[in-house]
Amino acid sequence: MRDELMSDALCWELETQVTAEYADAAKVSEGFAFYCPHEVCLAKVHTATKKNTYFVAPDRHVRGCPNEARSTEASSQLGAPRIRSAQVRDVPVPNLLGQPPKLKPKPRAPTREELKQLASAVRGRPVLHPGTLEEVVDAWIRLAPEERHLRPLTIGTHTLTYATAFTFVRDLPRPCEVATLNLDARIVFGAVKVWPFKHMILIESWKKFLAETAATEVPLRLTLNQNETPEHIASFVGKGTTLFWHGVKPELSQNGSSLRFKVDFSSVYTGIVLRFDE
Ligand SMILES: [Zn+2]
Repeated sequence: MRDELMSDALCWELETQVTAEYADAAKVSEGFAFYCPHEVCLAKVHTATKKNTYFVAPDRHVRGCPNEARSTEASSQLGAPRIRSAQVRDVPVPNLLGQPPKLKPKPRAPTREELKQLASAVRGRPVLHPGTLEEVVDAWIRLAPEERHLRPLTIGTHTLTYATAFTFVRDLPRPCEVATLNLDARIVFGAVKVWPFKHMILIESWKKFLAETAATEVPLRLTLNQNETPEHIASFVGKGTTLFWHGVKPELSQNGSSLRFKVDFSSVYTGIVLRFDE
């Protein structure tokens, strides 16, 4: 029996375990089927949301399943863990930055034997929880430094941890060639100054980089048109700010005085995230 809400389940279509939060987001548009991952049980489950999002089994877990809720004994309401839903669970830490894996369409529901095989094949593997760049950055901020080494994070084909996926520009040797930053596989971060200029907001890194054809090191300078910039960006003006950037390749400006790239705020997996310095 468990004292916590059921947070992970087998997903038949994705052939892996997924978090309740991801299952809840994914099932809006897709026909996923979820099952209790314990081989003795394999009960069909679906997500429910009160204070938390979690899995419930409408037909109950088998007796003795580790996911069997204590409250189902005392309550005649099927699968309603009423006591535990009051607990607030931590936001899951994403283990994938980017698009979730493609759905593998299944022509029919799984047999018990197929589910058993899947349950045993995925046991011990990380529970899939994809995240946007913003969610991954916020998870990194929440994690204690020593915990970052223990948390896996996949970016594209790169299997990393929260410690290895993030590069602090302050730790880079000088001069730092921008081409060596590996921006498709890393999230690079460092202090920036943010200030308004006419109808623009300018963001400039304190760190300077060497670009291929530049004679000297130059900062990264982003020019945002206020009309095309989310409102919260203006709150960073004049404050101690850290810029996180990923998946975007800076190029030398025409006059050679800075590096820049076009910021696309509709892109959720690549681009920039700003956070106040702690
Ligand atoms: Zn179960």
